[in-house]
Formats: sequence, structure tokens, C-alpha cells
Amino acid sequence: MKSCVFSPPSRRVLLTRTLNILRTYNIKPRKKLSQNFVVDPNLIGEILARIKKCNYRKVLEIGGGIGTLTLFLSNAAEEVVTIEVDKKLVNVLEKEVASKRNNVKVIHGDILKIYKELGSFDVIISNIPYHISSKILFILTEMTFKEALLTFQKEFADRLLAKPGEANYGRLTVTANFYFDIEYLGMYPPASFYPPPKVYSTMVSLRRKTIHIDVPLKYFQDTIRKLFTLKNRTLKSALKNIVPADKYTPELVQKLEKYMTRRVRSLSMGELIEITSILYKHFEEGTV
Ligand code: SAH
Repeated sequence: MKSCVFSPPSRRVLLTRTLNILRTYNIKPRKKLSQNFVVDPNLIGEILARIKKCNYRKVLEIGGGIGTLTLFLSNAAEEVVTIEVDKKLVNVLEKEVASKRNNVKVIHGDILKIYKELGSFDVIISNIPYHISSKILFILTEMTFKEALLTFQKEFADRLLAKPGEANYGRLTVTANFYFDIEYLGMYPPASFYPPPKVYSTMVSLRRKTIHIDVPLKYFQDTIRKLFTLKNRTLKSALKNIVPADKYTPELVQKLEKYMTRRVRSLSMGELIEITSILYKHFEEGTV
């Protein structure tokens, strides 16, 4: 494949390469591992443009697949590490990419098990194995990087990007936005991949942010989890369910008065932080 740095070839060329590799190596894409390989030059171009614009040098790719993206990444960056769980695809990555590019390192492993050993990167890229979307999000909170460019199943990305009051706004939204600034980068149809998945995909950018809260993180997370299981109720009604009756005092009601008639799902990050802080101080020992 002719791999020009910032202008990937046409979809037809990408698809032909994909089909050739699958045939040559006798590979049947495994649904269980979300094996849908990118064949969309726009998706690849978006990632390469970002790498160039931000001058990223060290790249981690989660789920290298048959190396389509890996090849372009190796042109655009100084160092590329790609993790792949499927031994057969590791063989493809070694033969088709690593043997031709000395700046690519292929690691055979499950990202969920080895992420702590990987060190730091400028950018982490993944056409996310759909079955592990939330788990990947969680491990990213423990990894070191400047930006992650992730292509999620659209419905999952919609939840990350939801605004207070929208139907998709929930615990996942609040938790993810607590750790990251999340930006929408584009939507891609099933035909962007081979074999095509059943769903649309959305690319998002994640950048680490630091929110300061004056309660223990675990208390904040537990409270968010409890509140959002009752997200369609008013705060008042939700609290009645999660605060022991003897602790649901007039003082507590007064402290939270301005929020009591609001639906949980309409509360913004800032409001939730304030509410959690009031609850924590009210109970001091920190049990809702
Ligand atoms: N990035 C490639 C491949 C995407 S398909 C492309 O865009 O073409 C997703 C890839 O992730 C598959 O190759 C699958 O085998 C791999 N994968 C799935 N679960 C994984 C895990 N837990 N750790 C590492 N790789 C995984």
C-alpha cells in the first residue's frame, strides 16, 4: 500500500488491502473481539491531522488489528506501540508493519491486563473494541497521556457527550466528564469499517482535567451512583430513598433547598459537586 503521510488512499484501496490480508492470512474477523477494520480515509486523515497539528511523537494504539492505521501512524509519529490481543493479528502486525517500520513495537496482550506497564504517551488511539468501551474509559483514568482519540459506538459516545437534562445524561456522563474534557470529532457510518458493524461510530477526543472536590473521590462516586439510579426523580425524592430517615433532617433540606425540586438528571457537574459536598459535611463521617 502506498502510504503517504497525510493523505491516505481511497476507501477502495483500503478495502482491497484489508480483503487481501484476510485472505492471505486466512483470518475470519471475530465478532467477540469487535474486529472491524478501518477502511475510511477520512477517519484515518482526521487522526493524522491531529497528530501533526499537536506535534505528537509517541503513540499508543489499542487494538492494532491488521495494522491499517498502524502503518499511517508510523509515518506520522516517531514511536508507535500497538497492543493486540489476537495472536493471529499479532502475526499480521509483525509481518506487515513491524518488519517494515523500525519505529513500531507490537505487543501481544490484553490492554485491560497490561495497561499499567506501558508508560506514558502523547496520544492514545483506538477504534475501541466495543465490548470493552467502559473498561477502557476506566483504565484511561489511570494512564498518562495528553490526548486520547477514540472511536466509540455512537450510542456510547452520545452518553459521554450528553448535556444535563438530556435523556442520555447519566452516571457515565458525570463520571467521564469528571476526569476528561470530551470533544466530539465526527461520526462514521458502518461502511467506514470492514466487516461493517451494525452501528454508527463517533470519534471523540479525551483530555485529562483536574476537578477539585473537597470530599473523598470515593464518596463523590458512590453518591453519584446512588443518585443516578433515581435520575428521573427530584433530588428531594431521590435523597429520601438514599438517606436514612433519622438523618433526613430539616437542616439538610434547608441546606439543599435550591436543588430539591430539580430532577437528578438536570444537575450539572458543578451542582453535583456542591450537593455532594453539602451531604458529606452534613454527615461528617461521610455515609449517605
Ligand atoms: N485499529 C484497527 C483494528 C480495530 S478492530 C483498525 O482500526 O483497523 C479492534 C481490534 O482490537 C481487534 O483487532 C481486536 O482483536 C482488538 N482487541 C479487542 N479486545 C482487545 C483487548 N482487550 N486488548 C487489545 N486488543 C483488543
